[in-house]
Amino acid sequence: MSEINDMSRRDLIELGVAGAAVAMASPAAMAQSRAGSSDGDKPVGFAIVGLGKLSQGQLLPGLTRTKNAKLTGLVSGDPAKAARLAVQYNVPAKSVYSYETYDRIIRDPAIEVVYIVLPNNMHAEYTIRALKAGKHVLCEKPMATTVADSEAMIAAAKAADRKLMIAYRCHYEPTNLAAMRRIRSGGIGKPRTVWTDMSRQANFSDPSDAWRVSKEMSGTGALADMGVYGINAARYLLNEEPIEVRAWASTDRSDPRFKEVEDLVSWQFRFPSGAIANGSTAFNSNGGMGFQVAGEKGRVVADPGCLYGGNRLTFGAPNGKTVEITEIDQFAREMDWMADVVRGRAPMVAPGEEGLQDMRLIDAIMQSIARDGATIKTDWGYKRAVDPAAVVDV
Ligand code: NAD
Repeated sequence: MSEINDMSRRDLIELGVAGAAVAMASPAAMAQSRAGSSDGDKPVGFAIVGLGKLSQGQLLPGLTRTKNAKLTGLVSGDPAKAARLAVQYNVPAKSVYSYETYDRIIRDPAIEVVYIVLPNNMHAEYTIRALKAGKHVLCEKPMATTVADSEAMIAAAKAADRKLMIAYRCHYEPTNLAAMRRIRSGGIGKPRTVWTDMSRQANFSDPSDAWRVSKEMSGTGALADMGVYGINAARYLLNEEPIEVRAWASTDRSDPRFKEVEDLVSWQFRFPSGAIANGSTAFNSNGGMGFQVAGEKGRVVADPGCLYGGNRLTFGAPNGKTVEITEIDQFAREMDWMADVVRGRAPMVAPGEEGLQDMRLIDAIMQSIARDGATIKTDWGYKRAVDPAAVVDV
C-alpha cells in the first residue's frame, strides 16, 4: 500500500515533512545500510518486562509474527506465570528474570532490547535500570507519570548511548498512516479542526484497570491511559505542535473509580497553522477510539481509528468513500521497527522526546483544569524529528 509512493521526495520536502530523505531512500541505500550494521540480519533479542494483559494478549503473540525481533527474555514478579510463558514461547529458563534479578540482564547478550510493559509509575525506574545494563529500551505509553521522570529517562538513554523508543503503536498502523498521508498530500486542503475521543468504561474489578484509577500508579487516570492517544494523534495528524491548551474535567466523585483521578477530561489545542483540536477522554463513557480531521476541501474520519484491529477510515465523510485498509499486526510492526532502529536500518520515529512532549501536554492540561480552563502556553519549541507518514510503510 501507500500513498507515499505517489509523492515525490520534493513534494514531501515542500510539505515540510521531516525525514523525507529517509523515506525516499532507495532500496539499494537501505540494503547498504543493512550490510553496514555489525549484526547484519540477526534478529534483535527482546525481553518483555511485566507479563500482564497487553504482554500476554498482544506482545508475546506479536513476537511470533515479527521478522527482525525475537523473544529472548521474560521479567516478572510471578515465577509460575513466567515459567509457564517461557515454556509456551520457548524462552530458556536462564533468561527468565524477577524484578530482583532484573539487573543481571547486563550479562545476557541474547537480550538487546528491553520492552517495559509495567504500570506507568514503574516505567522510569525499569527503563533507567535497563539502560544502565546497556540495553536499548522500548517503553509503553504513557512514557512515565511525570515530566521529571521522562526527562530522567531521556538523560539515561543519552548517558548510556542506547536507544529509547516510546511504544506509540498508531505510528505503525495502516489506518493512521493512510489518514496522515491523505492530509500531507493535500487531500483535505488546509486542515482546520481535529476531534479525538478516546474513552471507555474502566472496570474496577479488573486488576489491570485498578491501578489505572490510582493517581500514584497511572499519573492522571483516563488522560494518561487513553487521552494520550488523542494528544499524540492530533500532533501526528497535523504534523505540528500545539502552542496553547485549555482544558476542563467532569468527574462524579461519588463513583468509586474516581476517588483519586479525573474521569472525563476535555481539552482544546491551538496550533500555529490556525487549526484547533478538540480532544476528550473518559473512563465512564462508551466514546471509543476515533478521530476526524476536517480541512478546507474535505475530511478524514477514522472511527474507530486506534483500536488493535477493525479500524475504519473514510475520506470525505459523510458521503465519502470508505478506504480499504489491509490490517496488520501493529504490535509486531512496531517491534520490528524498533529492531530496525537498533540495527541502523530505520529512523527513530518516537524517541523519548516524543513521549516527553505528550507528558508536558498532559501536565499543561492538568494545569488548565486546576485553573478552571485557563489558557496555558505550550510553545516549547519542540519539533518532531521524523514524520511517521514519511517513513513507515506497512
Ligand atoms: P496489566 O496490569 O495487565 O499488566 C501490568 C503487569 O505489571 C502485570 O503483570 C503486573 O503483575 C505487573 N506489575 C508489577 N508490579 C506491579 C504493581 N506494583 N502493581 C500492579 N502491577 C504490577 O497492565 P497492561 O494493560 O498490560 O498495561 C501495562 C502498560 O502497557 C501500561 O503502561 C499501559 O499504559 C500500556 N498499555 C499499552 C497499550 C497499547 O496499546 N500500546 C495497551 C494496553 C496497555
